[in-house]
Amino acid sequence: PPDVEQLGRSTWTFLHTLTASYPANPTPSEQSNVQQFMGLFGKLYPCWVCAEDFQDWMAKNKVRTESRDEFGRWMCEAHNEVNRKLGKREFDCGKWEERWRTGWKN
Ligand code: FAD
Repeated sequence: PPDVEQLGRSTWTFLHTLTASYPANPTPSEQSNVQQFMGLFGKLYPCWVCAEDFQDWMAKNKVRTESRDEFGRWMCEAHNEVNRKLGKREFDCGKWEERWRTGWKN
């Protein structure tokens, strides 16, 4: 079976990096691609209990694709939901871009 922690760390790196590379002003087709991708991701993520909870959360918290900042914050909120579930500290979503795109400011 997959190592759920290692899989999670690698997957969050991928997902936050995906939001960092998303356009600041996406076209309708770029927005539609992300919506399709996240829907399929929720069905295919190879930790089935994780995927089930994530799909439930996405059903109530629709992916926000109107800008890079909205998509990045939405992903941060998704990650915080899992952090809460696992008893981990929540991340300050005002800092998602510093962590995943621009690097920390001093
Ligand atoms: P991770 O949570 O993997 O975080 C990696 C890095 O991301 C952190 O070091 C931090 O710098 C940064 N970070 C942390 N929070 C945020 C945030 N909110 N926004 C932006 N950056 C942040 N594990 C389970 O045991 N049960 C589950 O049900 C479960 N569901 C998951 C669902 C999904 C969709 C994913 C991708 C993973 C899931 N995991 C689940 C795995 C879990 O979230 C962690 O990845 C794993 O426990 C390893 O945690 P970690 O403490 O190393 O850091």
